[in-house]
Amino acid sequence: MRYEAPKVLAAAVAMLAGANGRAGVLAGGTDLLIQMRSGRAQPELLVDVKGIAEMTSIVAENGGFRFGAAVSCMELVEHEAFAKAWPGVIDAVKLVGSVQVRGRASVGGNVCNASPAADSVPALIAAGATVSIVGPSGRREARVEEIGVGPGKTSLARGEIVVSFLLPRRAPHSGDAYLRFIPRTEMDIAVVGAGVNLTLDEAGVCCEARVSLGAVAERALLVPQAAVALIGTRLEAAALKRLAAAASAACRPIDDKRGTREFRIKVAGVMARRAAEIAFERARRQI
Ligand SMILES: Cc1cc2nc3c(=O)[nH]c(=O)nc-3n(C[C@H](O)[C@H](O)[C@H](O)COP(=O)(O)OP(=O)(O)OC[C@H]3O[C@@H](n4cnc5c(N)ncnc54)[C@H](O)[C@@H]3O)c2cc1C
Repeated sequence: MRYEAPKVLAAAVAMLAGANGRAGVLAGGTDLLIQMRSGRAQPELLVDVKGIAEMTSIVAENGGFRFGAAVSCMELVEHEAFAKAWPGVIDAVKLVGSVQVRGRASVGGNVCNASPAADSVPALIAAGATVSIVGPSGRREARVEEIGVGPGKTSLARGEIVVSFLLPRRAPHSGDAYLRFIPRTEMDIAVVGAGVNLTLDEAGVCCEARVSLGAVAERALLVPQAAVALIGTRLEAAALKRLAAAASAACRPIDDKRGTREFRIKVAGVMARRAAEIAFERARRQI
């Protein structure tokens, strides 16, 4: 196996595109090294992207934030301005593994590993995050919800690298939140994850919302019907009930030892409702 650590993006793209056999991007390696040890992944070329400046920086852009796909979860958590603007994304990123894992694990790796239960994905989808992708045919932009298509499968073409994430400028009175259900207190895989991002008007009425669910389908879902339940309301009990029903209705989960289909469907409604209440409170504090 060949290991390369280019310092510029163009070199990384050329290496991946020119590889004869199986080639893969290496970020933190917290998913990939485990897959290699178990034989599930057998790359002949590994291109380590942690030395590429564009992929490891967090910068302000158009009033929002752009962070590199190889930025570690811990770097994001410790970025005060980012954490203040996007507390829900931080809720999610903080849940990835342990402190040690977060010191290595990147958000790009979390998204590109394409686990339906990945914690950062519903939070990023709710936030309306977009990704910048570079490959042999140049650069393109996509929405986070377009990357994962099924367990372990992405829409990325051969040789494409997710370079960075863009989180848009925040409208006034906005809040987001992410919650997951796990059978243990930490270091576990989400049985259900829910991300909610919303904006209130001057009167405290919800005027924009995005709701996303993880671990209840083959990929994280954007659930527009759940967002509709919140818009025009102050998240009164009836609106939250409609939100929970819409979230549950969108689920098409598997049955496994971590939770039955019925359990996941029910808990998705509960998690979405609770995340919405936290996001609402975070937004309301700014009025
Ligand atoms: C003990 C432990 C606990 C964990 N707990 C959680 C948890 O609670 N929640 C959770 O969501 N995950 C968890 N994980 C999984 C893992 O840590 C995360 O998915 C992590 O974010 C992966 O990032 P990475 O940088 O290590 O990715 P890597 O392992 O380097 O890469 C993962 C995959 O993505 C591809 N890839 C990486 N970066 C890019 C890129 N920029 N462009 C294209 N492809 C790319 C790689 O080729 C590989 O296929 C845990 C892992 C461990 C070991």
